[in-house]
This record gives sequence, structure tokens and C-alpha cells, in this order.
Amino acid sequence: MKLKKSIALFTEAQKHIPGGVNSPVRAFKSVGGDPIFMAKAKGAYLYDADGNKYIDYIGSWGPMILGHAHKDVVKAVRSQIRKSSSYGTPTALEVLMAGLLSSNCPNVDKIRMVNSGTEACMSALRVARGYTGKNKFIKFAGNYHGHADAFLVNAGSGVATLGIQAIPGVTASVAADTLSAEYNNIEVVKKLVEENRGEIAAIILEPVAGNMGCIPPSEDFLQGLRTICDEENIVLIFDEVMTGFRLAFGGAQELYGVHADLVTYGKIIGGGMPVGAFGGKEEIMNMVAPVGKVYQGGTLSGNPIAMIAGHTTLSILQQNPEIYTSLETKTEYLAAGLYDAFAATTYPVCINRVGSMLSLHFGTRAVENFEDASAADNTFFNKFFHHMLSNGVYLPPSAFETWFLSDAISYKDLNKTIKLAKKFAKKN
Ligand code: PLP
Repeated sequence: MKLKKSIALFTEAQKHIPGGVNSPVRAFKSVGGDPIFMAKAKGAYLYDADGNKYIDYIGSWGPMILGHAHKDVVKAVRSQIRKSSSYGTPTALEVLMAGLLSSNCPNVDKIRMVNSGTEACMSALRVARGYTGKNKFIKFAGNYHGHADAFLVNAGSGVATLGIQAIPGVTASVAADTLSAEYNNIEVVKKLVEENRGEIAAIILEPVAGNMGCIPPSEDFLQGLRTICDEENIVLIFDEVMTGFRLAFGGAQELYGVHADLVTYGKIIGGGMPVGAFGGKEEIMNMVAPVGKVYQGGTLSGNPIAMIAGHTTLSILQQNPEIYTSLETKTEYLAAGLYDAFAATTYPVCINRVGSMLSLHFGTRAVENFEDASAADNTFFNKFFHHMLSNGVYLPPSAFETWFLSDAISYKDLNKTIKLAKKFAKKN
């Protein structure tokens, strides 16, 4: 595979951008080697600067559930951009988007658009603190809620990939209000709540973890958290930046039947444009300025291009619910094929899957929390990653990240992926 242009671009990029990338996990630090620079994408395929083609299993880290450059999304964006890319005033598109989100997301009476998942989570936490008048909050080791200071304690995604323990720049006083618990362990949460009674504003979590690989919630974990929050006047925040509109149209709330007080969104709701949103019960959301005093704002929030790309994507998903069934079936097929590939070896493998989110952990048979994910054999994963990449399959460049399937992926693509995995398993 020729990578001459990618290599030249990376050399140039490193002169001007820290590490040559605008988000750390893109740098291939965990898997080794140099990142590949993409030039275009269509449907289920990425094409790099040298013209190599890859089956895409990252989907821009989640948003591209319909595949790349979907014709309706492209058409909608084209029609809006002629009318201007930003006004800085309210628009009808924002009303349409808020209506669609609040009428389909449980407990989301009101919603505010922002520009990223980070902003959404940061703002939801501020609102929860303003509403309860309390400062501390509980998060889970290996969950990632963006890069706001308060969330960078025991975080997943790039923080886990790079193995950063204490982040310079995050002050001790900020970190002191972040309480960290083990994912899927309700007893630890109970203990933390008891030790900090009357001081905890919120519990925030990924209802299906996706930033330490994919980890489903154990039975009763979500309901257990709901009960604790109800009993202790704590705001339950579901971070559905990844899971929202991916696991079901109503996200993990719909899939598991447990409802949060505040919910954050991103990724899919922007159809590939920079977007986030936080919403929840009216009483809590009325804390937000200009109704209440919890300040939050943004020059480009509710940006018309992002709104139309997101609204078009969500409308296609809503009008074609069979997409979710098909994604489920395809991902199940892929998981079974991968199991089959590694079952032929004596090497243990754990494949976690929920809907169209999937991940592979080698050297272990069960991954239920960050400790389990960290104990997996990443050297073996890295070898697997490079084998797949050099054969035209683009997986997330870290075992701590989740694979995302798109509606555009075909059984031919899945069969090619499984065949390559079998070849790798046989050789190693
Ligand atoms: N929350 C979750 C669950 C995420 O997966 C991410 C990003 O991957 C974020 C929040 C942060 O979103 P963004 O990268 O758009 O700031």
C-alpha cells in the first residue's frame, strides 16, 4: 500500500499542529505507526490522500450512521449554505430541531444546542450544580465526557489510550469535586454517596460505555443509579453523545427503559457537522439563561448548516426504523464472524456489542469495567489493527475505542473483514 502523500502530510502537519493532529487518538500513538490522511469518503468507504480505499469502522467516531456523503444530507446542506452559513439570530431550523429532539427523547422537555459533546456535558454539569446547589459529582472510570477540566479524572478515550494519569492544567481543587467510581459497580456508588451525603449534585455516565471499548451496563446498574438519584436528590445525567440515535431512535434511555434527568447529545445529531446538545426536565432546564441564572451560550450554537445536516439525518432514521434492525443484524453477524475467527485459536477474546457498537479485547473473556479493559492485550490488538489497515479495513486506532457500523456497510464488506480476521487469527 502506497502512503507517500500521507507520510508527507504528517511530516508537514507536525511542524504546525501538536502531534500533527487536532484530536489525540487520531495520532496512532497507541497502535504505533503514522496516521493516514483522508481525502474523501462515500458510503462505507474512506479514501486516503494516496487513493487507497478502506472499509470504515469509525464513522467519524460515531456520527456517520447513514454512511458518508448521504445524498439527502448533501442536498440539504447545499440548499442552506446558499442562504448563509450563520446568522447569529434564532432560526426556524433550531425550532424544528428542538421539537424533533424533545418529542423523541424521554424526559427531554427542553433542549439547548451547543457545538460539541464536550460543551454539552460541561453545560449539563453546570446546570445540575446550579439546580441542586451542590458541587461534587460522580463519574465512572473509563467513561469520557469530553475534555472539560472536571471530567478529565480517570477518563476514557484518548486519555486512556495515552495512559495519562494526572493532567497538568487541571487544578487539584477542580479534581477534588470529581468523584470516580468503577463502572457497573453500584456498591461503590452507594458508598461514595454515603461518604459525601448532601454534597453530590450529579451522577454522569455513558449508559453504554464506548470509550474503553464497548461495555454494556450490567443488569440493574442503570436502574440502581436511578433509584439512588431519586432518594438523594441527585441529578442523573446520561451522556448519550455516542449512544443517542445510535442504539435506538430514543437512545439508551429507550433501549433500557431507564430515564435520566438531563441528557447530552452530539455526533449523530449533527450529521457530521460540529454539534452537541443538552436537555432535560423543564424544571431543571429553566435554570439556563436567559430564563434562569446558569449562564451558557455560543456564537455558532444552533448553526443552520449543522441543524439542517442533523435534522435531515434524524428524519431519515425516524422515517426508516428498519435501519436500526438492519444495523443490529449486520453487527451481530460481524461479531459472530469475529468470534468464529478467533475461536479457531486458543487465544482468548472478548467481543462486546450493543446495537451497532462493538469492540474487541484480546487476552481476556470478559470486560465489564476500565480495569478489565486495561488488562487486555493491547500489543496483540495493535498487530491486528495494522493487519486490517494494510488490507483496507479502517478500525479505531485504539482498543479503548468502539467500532461503529453504518447503514452503508454491506455484507460483502463484513465478509471481507471476517475473512481478514480469520487470516490473522491463523497466522498468530
Ligand atoms: N461524551 C462521549 C460519550 C463521547 O464519546 C465524546 C466524544 O467522543 C464526548 C462526550 C465529547 O464530544 P466531543 O468530542 O464532540 O467534544
